[in-house]
Amino acid sequence: MPLVGFGTWQLRGKEAYQGVRTALDCGYRHIDTATMYRNEEETGRAIRDSGLDRSDIFLTTKLPGGNAGRERATLAASLAALGMDHVDLWLVHWPPGDTASPEVWRQLLACRDEGLARAVGVSNYSVSQIDELTEATGEAPAVNQIPWSPPEHDPKLLAAMRERDVVVEGYSPLKGTDLSSPILAEIAAGHGVTPAQVVLRWHVEHEITVIPKSAKPDRIAANIDLFGFSLKPAEVARIDAMAGR
Ligand code: NDP
Repeated sequence: MPLVGFGTWQLRGKEAYQGVRTALDCGYRHIDTATMYRNEEETGRAIRDSGLDRSDIFLTTKLPGGNAGRERATLAASLAALGMDHVDLWLVHWPPGDTASPEVWRQLLACRDEGLARAVGVSNYSVSQIDELTEATGEAPAVNQIPWSPPEHDPKLLAAMRERDVVVEGYSPLKGTDLSSPILAEIAAGHGVTPAQVVLRWHVEHEITVIPKSAKPDRIAANIDLFGFSLKPAEVARIDAMAGR
């Protein structure tokens, strides 16, 4: 799974199509959608029209927690909308009824075993809910997609996920951050980049997968232009210390 992906929540219709096309043109090879986002059709079309090989793109979609009991039909509808025969990652979008729901997890594993999803995981699950799934089936989710930004940085949670071999994928990296923070402004000025790029590079420094969304071509491009600079350990530590603020 590429460390930086393109988030598509709140992109609909033409904006979704154009956003995914722009993202692919800018070098993103990881796209995050969901049944709930109602943009799978545009996302699939943008991927096909890009001319890129399907195998070069990592595509995630998600099962709404409320669709528990209709897992297979929901994935079939996602694949039909996307115009694809598999996704790379299929996530339970949130714990159904606020419970771990091992029976839903068993259905995801079965669909993966049939090749409809190359990997399966969860989103918005707690450590104890993940443990419940693993205890019930012997298989931990490959990924937990959860909010992750400097104010939400939680090294203990990160360590707990890594001990379980669960990849942390951070959502709302920018929305969760005060981009006018003087700390970010100072670090950004030192590297000649924007505060948003500093935040996203901070995820990269921690090897936390990150999936920023933008509808604006210049921001879509800037949000993946993160590999021409790196943060010094002291800068990472200053950003870590924004946690809880
Ligand atoms: P983001 O942190 O990606 O922030 C998006 C907002 O930041 C938009 O308002 C966007 O505005 C703005 N923005 C984007 N780039 C910049 C920039 N360079 N400088 C300043 N502002 C910028 O929030 P999301 O909540 O969209 O999270 C990212 C993705 O994570 C979602 O799109 C979705 O794929 C996923 N997600 C998953 C959830 C889950 O429950 N699993 C929940 C929430 C998100 P503009 O578009 O105008 O540029």
